[in-house]
Amino acid sequence: MATHLTVTGTTHLSPSLLRVHLRSDDLSAFVGSEFTDRYVKLVFPVDGRPLPEPLDMRALRGTLPPEQLPVVRTYTALSPDVAAGTLDIDFVVHGDEGVAGPWAARARPGDTLVANGPGGGYRPDPGADWHLLVADESALPAVTAALADLGPDAVVHVVALVDSGEHEVALPVPEAGSVTWVRRTTGGDLAEAVAALAFPSGRVHAFVHGEAEVVMRRIRPLLLRERGVRREDLSISGYWRDGRTEEGFREWKSALAREEAAG
Ligand SMILES: Cc1cc2nc3c(=O)[nH]c(=O)nc-3n(C[C@H](O)[C@H](O)[C@H](O)COP(=O)(O)OP(=O)(O)OC[C@H]3O[C@@H](n4cnc5c(N)ncnc54)[C@H](O)[C@@H]3O)c2cc1C
Repeated sequence: MATHLTVTGTTHLSPSLLRVHLRSDDLSAFVGSEFTDRYVKLVFPVDGRPLPEPLDMRALRGTLPPEQLPVVRTYTALSPDVAAGTLDIDFVVHGDEGVAGPWAARARPGDTLVANGPGGGYRPDPGADWHLLVADESALPAVTAALADLGPDAVVHVVALVDSGEHEVALPVPEAGSVTWVRRTTGGDLAEAVAALAFPSGRVHAFVHGEAEVVMRRIRPLLLRERGVRREDLSISGYWRDGRTEEGFREWKSALAREEAAG
């Protein structure tokens, strides 16, 4: 069932991260949604063509040519309050290219959005000895949600990539937590920062998401092979791929899966 959302306002969290405040008369799709990385599929009309009601993307894919299909983009849904009918989405504003980022940059109260979902797969395991959260800007919303879910005594290390100091955002880190900011403009490298991190002893539960090449080809082998993180304790995936739209990124993911299946 699609959720219909209306923009009520926006807040700049940093020069590149924009929080869009949304409301809906019906957030029932979020009842029982327990994952902190809960995400929705935002559906954008193309060429001013209205979205059909009810919205069934699978049926549309079977009937419309690709260029007429609505554009689908994936975003983390923050703090859904079913009773109040409110939720937030933090958008990386990454220039004029694409659909969702530019939409958010122009968003004004009264603008509307349609969302399918939510899906999700991660919530910090309270039984873990410590938590590792690694992200670029696209996964900072999910990291924020994970931090908000952790107890006050949780041990957590956040490693986060942003352009520069002014792009750092306030994170609700517990007392025993730390944040390592990695800055692109001064040559910072997310994978190197993870490699340099001193791992506390005990079982880690890790959440690692961001640009796909960095996350899947550099950080994943580092964590699994060099640091011995157990597969079941690792939530890891690319959230976007540099130089590709989300459609192109889906092809990249299929190619990676074929590569891995072939060994
Ligand atoms: C589960 C999940 C949750 C996600 N949650 C969020 C979220 O909460 N907030 C968020 O901002 N993103 C999030 N993303 C990433 C988001 O879906 C992609 O960044 C998406 O490609 C943006 O769509 P677009 O229409 O703006 O750009 P596209 O049309 O997909 O791409 C256009 C161009 O912009 C580039 N581009 C795309 N994203 C970025 C970026 N982040 N930084 C720099 N260049 C970029 C592409 O490489 C391409 O060259 C999430 C992804 C997943 C899979």
